[in-house]
Amino acid sequence: MKDPSETLSSDAIKNVLDELEAQSSHRIEKVSDNVQLETLRIEYLGRKARLSLVLSSLGSLDKEERGSAGERANRLRRQIEEAIRQKAESLKGSAKKEGVDFTLPGVRRERGVTHPITATIREIARIFETLNFEWVAGREIETEFYNFTALNIPDDHPSRDSFDTFFTQGGNLLRSQTSTVQIRVMEKRKPPLRIIAPGRVYRPDTVDASHSFMFHQIEGLMVDDRTTFADLKGVIHLFLRALFGKDSKIRFRPHFFPFTEPSVEVDVSCFICRAKGCSVCGQKGWLEVMGAGSVDPAVFQAVGYDPKKVQGFAFGLGVERICMLKHGINDIRLFYENDLRFLKQFA
Ligand SMILES: [Zn+2]
Repeated sequence: MKDPSETLSSDAIKNVLDELEAQSSHRIEKVSDNVQLETLRIEYLGRKARLSLVLSSLGSLDKEERGSAGERANRLRRQIEEAIRQKAESLKGSAKKEGVDFTLPGVRRERGVTHPITATIREIARIFETLNFEWVAGREIETEFYNFTALNIPDDHPSRDSFDTFFTQGGNLLRSQTSTVQIRVMEKRKPPLRIIAPGRVYRPDTVDASHSFMFHQIEGLMVDDRTTFADLKGVIHLFLRALFGKDSKIRFRPHFFPFTEPSVEVDVSCFICRAKGCSVCGQKGWLEVMGAGSVDPAVFQAVGYDPKKVQGFAFGLGVERICMLKHGINDIRLFYENDLRFLKQFA
C-alpha cells in the first residue's frame, strides 16, 4: 500500500507546480557550469524531485482535476528537460569558443609595487602634511641664479665648479639641490609659507655604494613674521620621531650652510642599536640625517622680502639615505638597477 504521507493534496500539487513554473527556467538560465546544472537536474527531475512526487500523487485526485494537473505537470517536465538540454549545449559551446580548459590552473597577474624611494618620499610628505606643509614641485634644469646666487653661494664657491655641477650647453645647469624651489616659490608668493619640495638632484659624483650622479632630496621651508629657531627644533623633533619612532633622541650640531644662519646638522639616535653603537652608526649611537637652519637674511633679500619683517627656517635631507637607514640597504645603486628581486621586497 502507498504511504499516504508521500501523497500530495490537490492544493499542494498546485503550489508545487506554481513554484516550478515561476522559478525553474530562471534558475537553469543562471547556471554557469556543468556541476551546478547537474545539481539542478537532480533537484527538478530526479527520483525524489517534487515533480516526481506530483506525478505519483495524481492518482489520488478527482478525474477532472487529475486530467488538467497531469497535463500541466507533464508539460512542465518537458520544459525543464528541454531547458537543461539547451543549457548543457550552450556551456559546451562557450567552452569550445573560448578554447578554455577549465581544469587548468588560473593565470596569475603580477601586481606592481611602489618603488622604495617613492614610498619614502610619500611617507615623509605625509608627516609634513599633518603640520600643514604644502608639497611643491620645481624644474630640474635651472639657472646659476636659482641654484647658487639667490642661495647666497658666492661666485668663487667650489660647488659652482664644473666638477661639482652638471652644466648644460646653454649655460644652465641640472639643479644640484632642491633649494631652488624655495627661491622660486618665495619670488612668486608672500609669507606665510610652509612648503616641502621633494625631487631629483644631480651631481657629477663617481657612482659607488654610497654615491650616485642623481639622487633625491626633500627640502622644507617655513616663513612668516615670527618663526624662530625654536619652531625649527619643534618641527624637526616632531618629524624625526614620527619617522624613526617616538622614543628617538635628537641632537643638533653647529654647522655651516651658505643659505642659513645659524645652521645645524641634525642627528637622530640610532634606532638599530638603540644608541648603543653598531656598524650602521659607526659605533657612535647617532645617525646624521639632515641639515637645517634659520634662513639667511641675504636669501630673503634675493627674493625681495624685507629681512627685518620676515623670518623662517629651512631644512633638507637625502631621501636615499633615509630609505637605506630604514630598510638596512647598504648600496645606493640597488635603487636604480630595476632588479625586481630587490624591488619586490618592498611589496
Ligand atoms: Zn647603531
